[in-house]
Amino acid sequence: MDPVRGSAVRAVGETASFVEPEHVAAPFLLAVSDTCAASLDVSPDVVRAHPSLLTGNDLIEGADVFATNYGGHQFGNWADQLGDGRAISIAEFVSNEGVRSEWQLKGAGMTPYSRFADGRAVLRSSVREFVASEVMASLGVPTTRALWIAGTGEEVMRDRFYDGNAAPESGAIVCRVSPSWIRFGHFELPAARGKTALVKELADFCMARDFPGVTSYADWFREICERTAVMIAHWQRVGFVHGVMNTDNMSVLGLTIDYGPYGFLDGFDPSWTPNTTDAGRRRYRFGQQPAIGFWNLQRLAMAISTLFEDTQPLQDGLIHYEKTFVSLDAQMQLAKLGLTDEADLPLVNELQSLMQSQELDFTKTYNALLNGYDLAQCSYRLEPDKEALSLFVSKYQRRDRNEGLMRANNPVWVPHNWMLQELIDETQKCYDAGTECRALNDAIEAAAEPERFPEQVAKWSDLRPAWSLSERGCTDLSCSS
Ligand code: AMP
Ligand code: MG
Repeated sequence: MDPVRGSAVRAVGETASFVEPEHVAAPFLLAVSDTCAASLDVSPDVVRAHPSLLTGNDLIEGADVFATNYGGHQFGNWADQLGDGRAISIAEFVSNEGVRSEWQLKGAGMTPYSRFADGRAVLRSSVREFVASEVMASLGVPTTRALWIAGTGEEVMRDRFYDGNAAPESGAIVCRVSPSWIRFGHFELPAARGKTALVKELADFCMARDFPGVTSYADWFREICERTAVMIAHWQRVGFVHGVMNTDNMSVLGLTIDYGPYGFLDGFDPSWTPNTTDAGRRRYRFGQQPAIGFWNLQRLAMAISTLFEDTQPLQDGLIHYEKTFVSLDAQMQLAKLGLTDEADLPLVNELQSLMQSQELDFTKTYNALLNGYDLAQCSYRLEPDKEALSLFVSKYQRRDRNEGLMRANNPVWVPHNWMLQELIDETQKCYDAGTECRALNDAIEAAAEPERFPEQVAKWSDLRPAWSLSERGCTDLSCSS
């Protein structure tokens, strides 16, 4: 633990620093996730009853609150110390079932790791993180969760499009929840500084706390590799593009963390990324996520290599990543078509080529195949090749498919950036009125139980509307948050 308390920005040699959230002007609740609360055995009304806890104006009595220190490779380059620049852990919570979780306030103010920034978060990025965390959870994707989103009653200056035009935006805070917030970058930083004893201490701590039953470093690394493979296979299944797969944004538990300029595929396009900051090289494009997962695991392997006498277990772990990903990805992509036989993989490839050439919407296409409507309705092209589409359908129809498997593997809708932008606008109205925003709860419930929201879901499961193409923030996003 850092011997210095407080938020003075500095290089820190230890793994975490005690620092308290900065007070905000007027904390109020925008939404609490009922499903996240239920998973923790917490009543949403308990959250409602304590507005001053929502933003860290008040703290749970006796809680040691802190921000942690990590480094990371950003867009392929070593970035040195990063750390929780605006996330402060406020509680360690153990549910009645004995499940541990750590609660963090994101946007809670300056910490020693804030570098050149303000420690705050704006409403738009907080809505995006809140909704995505909860929707991803109900789609069965491994993810950190979001318990509540609160307004601060304060404004934050942001240059939203990185074009030199900073403007005030509403400030907000998300309380996010995870069994662990340890990232690859937590090991990379002490390793880069030659602090091998600290790497070992942290590895032992992480293994004991977050990997019950795992007793060797080799098994620990293997498990991290496996969990990363599982997470990315799920991303590819639902068409999720993280957007900023830097090693500081990779959780050792294989949970999706740090929802920033993420997006979901519209038309199937492996080269797509929603992140304008990455538009040049497209390092984190959809089709490259599995390879980046491998690259990131290699960075972790290097960081923890001092724990091993020879590198074989690390190489084995990386091979295990590849094998796990390849087999799960095949299984899931087949399952999206209701199939289980690997002999049908050429059909998956054929559909992917067709989706790409005919600009078919990734989510809508599988629902069309499931429900028997016309694939031409799934195309963003004015005149899709109808012959090619029906040729595929007739081939596919000869397969014996499992519809339950299809339902379990295909989202009815996914939170596209244009929908989120509408939700952000809706939330802004509640923010201005100082009230809870039911639209946020409806959105996350509509992912878990689409049949309860027929009108909304009909709109959200359809093709991207034309207006959203020209609206900024609806297809492309910067890292500004
Ligand atoms: P990200 O790209 O969001 O993963 O953030 C990379 C690094 O920048 C992390 O160390 C964050 O904590 C830090 N960071 C991002 N935004 C802010 C902010 N507004 N204030 C302080 N630190 C920030
Ligand atoms: Mg981050």
